[in-house]
Amino acid sequence: MGKVVLRPRRKRKKVELRDPVLEQVAALAEAEGIELYVVGGYVRDYFLGKKDRREIDFTVIGDALSFAKLVARHFRSKAVIYERFRTAMVPVGKEYRLEFVGTRREQYVPDSRKPIVTEGTLVDDLERRDFTINAIAIAVTGPEKGKVIDLFGGLQDLSKKILRTPKDPLVTFDEDPLRMMRAARFAAQLQFSVDPAIVDAMKRLAERITIVSQERITDEFLKILQAPKPSIGLKLLYTTGLLQFIFPELAALAGVEVYQVGKQEYAHKDVFFHTLQVVDNVAEKSENLWLRFAALVHDIGKAKTKRFIEGKGWTFYGHEEVGARMLRRIFRTLKLPMDHLEYVQKLVRLHHRPMALVQEEVTDSAIRRLIVQAGDALEDLFLLCRADITSKNPHIVRKYLANYDRVYQRVLEVREKDKLRAFQSPVRGDELIAITGFDPSPAIGFLKKKIEDAILDGIIPNDYEAAKAYLLEHLDEWKREIEARGIPTTRPKRRERSEASR
Ligand code: ATP
Ligand code: MG
Repeated sequence: MGKVVLRPRRKRKKVELRDPVLEQVAALAEAEGIELYVVGGYVRDYFLGKKDRREIDFTVIGDALSFAKLVARHFRSKAVIYERFRTAMVPVGKEYRLEFVGTRREQYVPDSRKPIVTEGTLVDDLERRDFTINAIAIAVTGPEKGKVIDLFGGLQDLSKKILRTPKDPLVTFDEDPLRMMRAARFAAQLQFSVDPAIVDAMKRLAERITIVSQERITDEFLKILQAPKPSIGLKLLYTTGLLQFIFPELAALAGVEVYQVGKQEYAHKDVFFHTLQVVDNVAEKSENLWLRFAALVHDIGKAKTKRFIEGKGWTFYGHEEVGARMLRRIFRTLKLPMDHLEYVQKLVRLHHRPMALVQEEVTDSAIRRLIVQAGDALEDLFLLCRADITSKNPHIVRKYLANYDRVYQRVLEVREKDKLRAFQSPVRGDELIAITGFDPSPAIGFLKKKIEDAILDGIIPNDYEAAKAYLLEHLDEWKREIEARGIPTTRPKRRERSEASR
């Protein structure tokens, strides 16, 4: 066990937490004579200025589970009890999630994630937390109400924007290796720097991540992707060696190979660092987790398809398809929800297609094929393509962006044409027959076309009421025209029909 370094306490003003639900919980504890503290994410976010958090972490001195049940009764809710961890969660209304833990001491046995938990003091409770910024408590009951308990310098670390562990990080991470993932997660989420001792410990203990359940790992990994700048966390995972264990296919993209032809050396770009940039670019434009994930894996097939071809340079032929096919395994291993697989595959498979369609002479049907294959993901595909431009050369960036604009313009044109082709008079044939008394005949087609032209010319809107009114208004006039031009109003005879279709 590492030594706890207690910092000299500075005098601090008491803080006042103003939250109606929190106040009721505090009053309940007070009435029961229970000592209660808020801790963890709630306190951290409070000091970071996010004071409207609805997920509140409480530490109860004593029996957290029976207190949670009492709270649940008060709010007419139901406590969700995690017996094994002696924690409970009480949802209140649609927004609030109250988490209760009893103060506890955790002792870890090697090769297991399951600690032996015994009752402990508030100090024990704070000491077993992952980072100093998550180990600040605020008393919400008793004469000390509002007092901030900050044993490990968490407030200072918040203001310095740095992640540190309360104990020696080797101890902290050895006890629960998931905390290494959490370091990367909080670094990315809060855009904090990371204590070099943490980085060091992560390097030394990286392999220990393998004892943690995939669900917990994936949970933190996806939180990294949801962060404002995911590359901060991903880079840390890579440089410490964790990525190798949790996502080897991604780690395999790192590195640059050099091919020598005579005296000339040819290097390709580092696909991993390119990928990080693409993920950040997408993250700037979209909160969509699966679009971000698609960005993360868009070049995943490149490690397998990399070849140097003399006269051409480095190539990655077919990496889109190879990558798309790797994804099922990756989804399964990471235990990702399978209902997002198809979407991610689609984006990976198609991410070079818009670029292939920039030439002037591309046919409508090539554009149409892209529209059909991308389906609902078409806009996201273009967003990904634009994010994929990571050149430092502004001329190239401008040129590529203009290319994508042009292809997208074609997409809009083809869509518009197809819409018109599928378009029909809102007053249908059957009704025209009933109104006019004509047979299904060229005259009916003539009337339909009159209505359609009026809509296309913008004379009337494309709706039934307007079309019908317009028809009735002009019907006599059009009937005269039909007569004058000799347009048949009766069904063509069988013989004539077969002739016409010849
Ligand atoms: P978020 O805002 O994402 O909910 P959080 O800080 O509330 O962040 P949680 O995972 O909800 O994070 O955990 C609540 C608190 O419990 C943390 O702030 C931390 O003090 C403690 N904690 C959670 N997981 C661990 C862990 N694996 N090891 C040590 N302490 C942990
Ligand atoms: Mg939380």
